[in-house]
Amino acid sequence: MKKKLQVEAIAHGTVIDHVPAGQGIKILKFFQLSAAQERITVGLNLPSGEQQQKDLIKVENTVFDENQANQLALFAPNATINVIEDFEVVRKFHVSTPEQVKAVFACPNSNCISHNEPIDSNFYVRHQQQDIKLKCHYCEKTFDRSLFSELD
Ligand SMILES: [Zn+2]
Repeated sequence: MKKKLQVEAIAHGTVIDHVPAGQGIKILKFFQLSAAQERITVGLNLPSGEQQQKDLIKVENTVFDENQANQLALFAPNATINVIEDFEVVRKFHVSTPEQVKAVFACPNSNCISHNEPIDSNFYVRHQQQDIKLKCHYCEKTFDRSLFSELD
């Protein structure tokens, strides 16, 4: 089956595909991609298979390392990362949920000691049914993933 071109092709960079519809904006915001100097193309609510919609993000001249890509997994567990060089996909991989997330999120618990100490935040990733929860190393509270995606 021939794939339709859904978003303008890029010469060099990264395409994050199979992002659940609605998560694309959160990912942009969370990873502060829009604050970077590179050109970013976002497709929202694109058709994906028979029944679903997806978001897609193209970031020019930027290659995500596996650690960064795995942080994406918290928002888009089925995302695929396509590394583009000269308009060709030279590498393609699935994100995998990390076991631990360090120095990325602030703890949603305002009483958590991590806010007052010069330490990196540290969360353990827990799967509960279909959902992903994060347990703080310091206050040992467990938080829903959505609490993090709404942090500014
Ligand atoms: Zn905490």
